Amino acid sequence: MSGSFQTRSSILFFALLLAAGGFFATPVKGAGRAVGTSANPEHEVLIFDYHRFNTYRADSMTVTMPVFEFQLQYLEEHGYHFIPLSQYVDYRLGKAAAPPPRSVIITMDDGHESVYARALPLIEKYRIPVTLFIYPSAISNASYAMTWKQLRALKATGLFDIQSHTYWHPNFKVEKRRLTPAQYDKFVKFQFQRSKQTLDRKLGINVTMLAWPYGIYDQELMRKAREAGYQAALALNGRHAGDHDNIMAISRYLVSDRDKGRFFEDILAGTPARR
Ligand SMILES: [Zn+2]
Repeated sequence: MSGSFQTRSSILFFALLLAAGGFFATPVKGAGRAVGTSANPEHEVLIFDYHRFNTYRADSMTVTMPVFEFQLQYLEEHGYHFIPLSQYVDYRLGKAAAPPPRSVIITMDDGHESVYARALPLIEKYRIPVTLFIYPSAISNASYAMTWKQLRALKATGLFDIQSHTYWHPNFKVEKRRLTPAQYDKFVKFQFQRSKQTLDRKLGINVTMLAWPYGIYDQELMRKAREAGYQAALALNGRHAGDHDNIMAISRYLVSDRDKGRFFEDILAGTPARR
């Protein structure tokens, strides 16, 4: 009898501990809110989107190396976990457990050469899983882009997952105005299918995710992307990703070189400054 009493008191004790943990898990200023905790039943995760890296701020899409390292170090020191995007998408598809609290996901769009030339050493130093969204028409073609060889080298590190960013990064709003409905339908299918086919063939992978060029999407595009074999798609909505997001428009934050100190803490807290 005393055994069962003890068991019951242990259960009660743990229940109290859990309740207290939930109660006290209020955001600590500067440390960001505890994403994915019981206080946050939506299992929110932070997904960052980078483009180019340089030693100086060449343009608004460039993050300098000291700022990139500040962000990685800050996240590590404040108890955040870097998880692969695929792990989060598997959770959203019902194939994996919910992401652990304070999960952060790193994505990089457009296949800039600076990912290989500048960001790679830091990615390896911090052992961060990264998802690259690539539009294959630029690879081994545009002067700013990586080559297929570089992409294969990144894949071989085991830290990079490579996914689709359409075939040539069109502005779907512009194309919809410019083309007849039949032409537009064909154009969209081409952008989705040709990208996946090229990446699959060139890299020996199976692409299942898409990032919307310029963050532009609508119901029709989401439906067509699903039909082309994409299971998830990433947007740029500037908020934490969570169960509230349509799986074909998962939220990300576009990272800029300004995102250090207070600006970065505001993103972590889910209250980014207007940009
Ligand atoms: Zn892009």
